[in-house]
Amino acid sequence: MATIIDGKAVSAAIREEIAKEVETFKAQTGVTPGLAVIIVGEDPASTVYVRNKHKACLDVGMFSEVRRMKEETTEEELLAVIDEMNRDDKLHGILVQLPLPKHIDEKKVIRAISASKDVDAFHPENVGKIMIGDYDLLPCTPAGVMALLDYYKVEIQGKECVVIGRSNIVGKPQALLLLERNGTVTVCHSRTKNLSEVTRRADILVAAVGRPRFVTADMVKEGAVVIDVGINRDENGRLVGDVDFEAVEKKASAITPVPGGVGPMTITMLLKNTLTAARVALKK
Ligand code: NAD
Repeated sequence: MATIIDGKAVSAAIREEIAKEVETFKAQTGVTPGLAVIIVGEDPASTVYVRNKHKACLDVGMFSEVRRMKEETTEEELLAVIDEMNRDDKLHGILVQLPLPKHIDEKKVIRAISASKDVDAFHPENVGKIMIGDYDLLPCTPAGVMALLDYYKVEIQGKECVVIGRSNIVGKPQALLLLERNGTVTVCHSRTKNLSEVTRRADILVAAVGRPRFVTADMVKEGAVVIDVGINRDENGRLVGDVDFEAVEKKASAITPVPGGVGPMTITMLLKNTLTAARVALKK
């Protein structure tokens, strides 16, 4: 039976550490690290995510501002708020909850956030910095995966790492982070041929596909570490990952559950980024 990688427990431990660091930072600088989250519209999932981010900030002693904007908000209005927040010294991190309504250009919005406050690390400047391995901020979900691997002391160097998915938010940066740690990295995607042949090579398999129970036991090598980034609803409305957990668990040496695996780590890494951004801003 596989070790169940407990993202909730790891997340709680890291958040406790962050809370202590925030306290020290405040004592040293007199400044409270601050995060602003902007939400446009009332998408139910986004509303829950934003509420969780706000609460998580307060729990570790950070300042949190949530700016709720109407669905009909124009791009111009949103850019004006970002501009105001870029210049607000209370705020060290700014996050615009995605997806945005169709009439707003997401790329333009991401570029408008000051790179030093871009705690999602989606700005081209931050993406470029990650590419050359000289960064302060990392995208939260892939960073959360790395933190889980480290917490469970999974060796990455020299290992076959296979990432399924090549999105800018998860797959691509995940591959870069594994490469930075000297993994031998393969990225698979919707046009990959003989997918299971490739995934069966993996010592570390990361699934970021967005399809319920996509990764089946025959796609996994005996003893592999399997990280499931997916958050999906199955046909019964149940929250499931990209991995067929029940079957794969019997083959893997370690596996993340959904929920309770990668999910909780994402907000934890957002808190870490906010503290890092505050440190960089105050040179501490
Ligand atoms: P995306 O839709 O942007 O990307 C999916 C990727 O899967 C694409 O690169 C595509 O090429 C690949 N893919 C699709 N079908 C495939 C197939 N048949 N074979 C191989 N590859 C295939 O999704 P995303 O934003 O990267 O998110 C992926 C999943 O992770 C979703 O379920 C999402 O909800 C979840 N997610 C979770 C967190 C978290 O906090 N845990 C954060 C972000 C995303």
